[in-house]
Amino acid sequence: MASIENGPSAKWSELLPDTFLERQQKCPIVYLPMGLCEPHGHVSAFGLDTIKAEFICNAVAREVGGIVAPTQGYHIHESGYHAPWLEEVLGNANPYMASIPPFILLHLFLYQLRAFSNAGFKGVVAITGHAGGNEMDLRMVATNFMRISPMKVEVRADPELVVGRYNGDHAGKYEISQLMYIRPDLINMSKISRQYEDKLLGRFALGHDALEASPQLGEKIMNACIKKTCEIATNLEQSIDRGSEIDHINIEQTELVWKDIMAAKSKWVTNKLFDGQSGASMDSKWKIYEDLT
Ligand SMILES: [Zn+2]
Repeated sequence: MASIENGPSAKWSELLPDTFLERQQKCPIVYLPMGLCEPHGHVSAFGLDTIKAEFICNAVAREVGGIVAPTQGYHIHESGYHAPWLEEVLGNANPYMASIPPFILLHLFLYQLRAFSNAGFKGVVAITGHAGGNEMDLRMVATNFMRISPMKVEVRADPELVVGRYNGDHAGKYEISQLMYIRPDLINMSKISRQYEDKLLGRFALGHDALEASPQLGEKIMNACIKKTCEIATNLEQSIDRGSEIDHINIEQTELVWKDIMAAKSKWVTNKLFDGQSGASMDSKWKIYEDLT
């Protein structure tokens, strides 16, 4: 395991109350790692997206300060633009993934923000290792939540942190390198030929350039992700009004915000195809999730 994981814990779940309050008073920022289990080829563990998001959050909390919230390890998949992608990479085979629909995840995210605000945090950095559109809906929820709380929320998908330097992908050179660096024990490149042998699962969503992955590249990518997130967290910390008290937000207030978000469902990204994207075929089992507006 990479050395950055060593040192005192910044994880909310591992902190005693005195240490929690000490850390929070020093830096009132909470980090939320988000990911899910989904196919990343026969060579990789399912939780690649989750593991990299946790890695970034833990490293930045150690560097800048603040506390790492319990990981959100289920995420939006299947729906909208994911449907034809699943058909393309897996046909009707089982992807063995931990997917939940947008209206559940976004509702839950709203309540996660409420929990952070009520726990006294003044800033949130949510890092999603699952990219491709969900980050836009998460930002939409965050914007709505900031109408009822002065807490400031930043949301980034990890490829957004390194835009212009590295191109994010799905289980290709970029992602496989990331996990090769963070958790080499969770990558087994000797299984690369399984993509030709497994008649049912095929590539199991492996990227075409996965063989170009290396732990050296992974280290560079992850360091760049961490550096950028440190900048975001530092700027957030500097913009926070430390003296202000944040009022308790109740469930009724939160539900009113959710009502507005639901009323604008047609503007969500994760519940429909992208403009111009071709849909899944009629016999695909994913077809029914293509339009959840
Ligand atoms: Zn991934």
